[in-house]
Amino acid sequence: MSKMAKEFVKDVTAMDEDFAQWYTDVVTKADLIDYSSVRGSMIIRPYGYALWDNIKNELDRRIKETGHENVYMPLFIPESLLQKEKDHVEGFAPEVAWVTHGGSEELTERLVVRPTSEVLFCEHYSNIIHSYRDLPKLYNQWANVVRWEKTTRPFLRTLEFLWQEGHTAHATDEEAMDETIKMLNVYAAICEEILAIPVVKGQKTEKEKFAGAKATFTIESLMHDGKALQSGTSHHFGTGFAEAFGIQYTDKEGKLQYVHQTSWGFTTRIIGALIMVHGDDRGLVIPPKAAPTQVMIVPIAQHKEGVLDFAYDLKKTLSGVARVDIDASDKKPGWKFNEYEMKGIPVRLEVGPKDIENKQVVLVRRDTLEKVIVPLDQLESKLGELLADIQANLYNKALKHREERTSVTVTFDEFKETLETNGGFIKAMWCGELACEEKIKEETGATSRCMPFEQEQVSDKCVCCGEKADKMVYWAKAY
Ligand SMILES: [Zn+2]
Repeated sequence: MSKMAKEFVKDVTAMDEDFAQWYTDVVTKADLIDYSSVRGSMIIRPYGYALWDNIKNELDRRIKETGHENVYMPLFIPESLLQKEKDHVEGFAPEVAWVTHGGSEELTERLVVRPTSEVLFCEHYSNIIHSYRDLPKLYNQWANVVRWEKTTRPFLRTLEFLWQEGHTAHATDEEAMDETIKMLNVYAAICEEILAIPVVKGQKTEKEKFAGAKATFTIESLMHDGKALQSGTSHHFGTGFAEAFGIQYTDKEGKLQYVHQTSWGFTTRIIGALIMVHGDDRGLVIPPKAAPTQVMIVPIAQHKEGVLDFAYDLKKTLSGVARVDIDASDKKPGWKFNEYEMKGIPVRLEVGPKDIENKQVVLVRRDTLEKVIVPLDQLESKLGELLADIQANLYNKALKHREERTSVTVTFDEFKETLETNGGFIKAMWCGELACEEKIKEETGATSRCMPFEQEQVSDKCVCCGEKADKMVYWAKAY
């Protein structure tokens, strides 16, 4: 490492030394966010927002492809409306923000700043759904929500965050169930195909399910430090909300029926996952498909005649195959190398007078820091191959890491020891009793992440109480 590179990198705490501090260093040094004067709120900087835009655009396309329409609901919810579904209000009450005044006047009814929009959609659906012909209703909204969290961390837990929330109403339970799983699969595909984050798909336990849902499904991913992160959830509501809000339709036989509902959400939290799955001691590592800039051109000896013109021509040519940018500022190349490594840009392209003379450029991949010299006449095809290779490599690396840190345990002692020494996911049997789930959490700090769709009978006894068990659960400490 050059002297300048060392100086630059030393500002970032080594990830194995203090992972939490590494994370905080990276989100600010890579210029994803800045802190605001409100505790627990963050300013998403242009680079962070460009990243979110890419994820959002890709997800929005898939949401529309699966037949959904975007709508927008109000920011405020009257207190009486939130109260309508008992479990739901109990689940959210501790973390809602209240509006009590408008100007200097006290409101006759307090308003909640939406922590989620179920009740707004339900009220609306009760007004617009009358007949089986009105079904299904497949709505989605992109919005901000507010949850008054006690401890906060950029992207992972903030007072306000951005997300999409899908809310649908169906004629039958089966249709609602199909929708719930369909959208979970859309989330899983975004994570695996775009963000190169492997996920485990499964169902949440009763304890961990969404407030008011009949069943909650989740995708769980594993971070570099061995902690899990819930990366997207999809809920099957059954008719619970419909009954509370009177959302009924007349079926083909003329009978009045309740609708069956779903909701599903994907948030800016996923950027936290992206950082913690792929990042390294030099900063972010962004998979090419998610990267706002895939290739950064850094001209070498750019004051020499012809270099800048050549570099700009390259940018133009390559724009057809990748998202390309150029840094022609008068900062030193060493500074630029470090800066774009910190930002996790997948490929750096170096070009100087010698390269121009030899009809070649140098490509440096961010994931392995490997350098390749590529002849100009092969550049477009090689670059495409390289980006695809980086994308695949990041996914495979993350998958290997998850596999290395996924263990099977049969006894509670084994469970505790494995969690202590290897962290990660622990696959263990569970009897289904809340008491065992709570005891595991209390004594180990691990929570049930999900009952995976792909079940394995790793034992026939509950890891906690030793009673008969037929459900395998993924357990982990989690963000
Ligand atoms: Zn048990």
